[in-house]
Amino acid sequence: NVRVRFCPSPTGNPHVGLVRTALFNWAFARHHGGTFVFRIEDTDVARDSEESYNQLLDSLRWLGFTWDEGPEVGGPHPPYRQSQRMDIYQDVAAKLVDGGYAYPCYCTANELDERREAARAAGRPSGYDGKCRDLTAEQKAAYEDEGREHIIRFRMPDEPITFTDLVRGELTFTPDNVPDYGIVRANGNPLYTLVNPVDDALMEITHVLRGEDLLSSTPRQIALYKALIELGIAKEIPAFAHLPYVMGEGNKKLSKRDPQASLNLYRERGFLPEGLLNYLSLLGWSFSADQDIFSIEEMVSKFDITDVNANPARFDLKKAEAINADHIRQLDVKAFAEACGPWLKAPHAPWAPEAFDQAAWEAIAPHAQTRLTVLSDITANVDFLFLDQPVEDEASWTKAMKEGSDALLRTARERLAAADWNAEALKEAVLAAGEAHGLKLGKAQAPVRVAVTGRTVGLPLFESLEILGRDRTLARIDAALA
Ligand code: GLU
Repeated sequence: NVRVRFCPSPTGNPHVGLVRTALFNWAFARHHGGTFVFRIEDTDVARDSEESYNQLLDSLRWLGFTWDEGPEVGGPHPPYRQSQRMDIYQDVAAKLVDGGYAYPCYCTANELDERREAARAAGRPSGYDGKCRDLTAEQKAAYEDEGREHIIRFRMPDEPITFTDLVRGELTFTPDNVPDYGIVRANGNPLYTLVNPVDDALMEITHVLRGEDLLSSTPRQIALYKALIELGIAKEIPAFAHLPYVMGEGNKKLSKRDPQASLNLYRERGFLPEGLLNYLSLLGWSFSADQDIFSIEEMVSKFDITDVNANPARFDLKKAEAINADHIRQLDVKAFAEACGPWLKAPHAPWAPEAFDQAAWEAIAPHAQTRLTVLSDITANVDFLFLDQPVEDEASWTKAMKEGSDALLRTARERLAAADWNAEALKEAVLAAGEAHGLKLGKAQAPVRVAVTGRTVGLPLFESLEILGRDRTLARIDAALA
């Protein structure tokens, strides 16, 4: 029975790397009919915040991930916030020390620095040198008398650790590369190095799927797991898989602080959750050689962690947008109209709420649906319908209103005034006006578009005019000519 966990620390805003980790865990659990555990790793009081915690829950819900165990839903291994499990960690740390798997280390930061430097200079491994590994009771007592504080350090085995990463294959870490490491701070606070594997053990996690940045902690966790098994706390070492790095601009690792990495940005721009998830799933995985667009259900049915590629993945915003555009087009038109809702209202929309016209919106929506890459673009595409005056976009005006534009606009106004008010007839009218001035349709419609919508680019013009109506269209042309 597959049990995976998504266990972020509530620091800062959720970012796309985190979402990909959540997605792969969630899809893996769903694919195998397993359990998706959501755990909050909030043991770092200095960095964790309640605001960030709430955002995490809100983001997972927006993305459509449901968790089988975790905050608010509970489960057989509560609580799911590490800040509420401190007594568990204290208890395990004490057992590890009693069993000889861990020991108090009295070295000060300065002493550690000096010895590290010396080891480097001598070309020896520069990790912890094991000084406090085997202190006698007298030595410990002497340190205590000096008033020294101690951390708890885990004793790494002296032989290499090998495991098979489900993405990377067999990996071996030698003892030189993995020295004894701290698991409890001097002030008694347990560290990630302890709480993460302890909870994985207690929550009976079978597969740890996480970012490549955590690969170096895996041999430590495996060693700790072995101790936990000997102590009867853990049953089995989970399988591990490390997801490839995501590279951003300039082939540098996409960092959490990179604005491109912020999940909120994608939400605010109007990515659909399914579009964003489709794109993020391609960071290290592929659906098939010739298909990039798929639903989340299709992904779940095909996803397996062993198909993930170990090579770094490149984050490509243009591709993300193109995929999102595809998902927008696939919505049924009613769902599309509804999804745009937030951008048709304050604070996104520049028009007064009472100026919004539902019938006009429903008429224009199908034309907008095929053209948007992100939903937030809807506002500028339909504002001509709901604003009293079209926006004044100087650049558009300069570009479209050339010599002779007035003459053309006058003819167009006459023809439009006489036309039946439907898109086909309106097109004929502008075509004829253009011909009268020796202009092709494209050139002839530019001044009309700018006069009526304020912009040189937008939704199909004649459908737009039809929906805007005769009176308002003609009044805007008059205003442009005045
Ligand atoms: N709380 C850790 C993080 O956010 C979890 C890492 C892991 O998956 O083990 O980086």
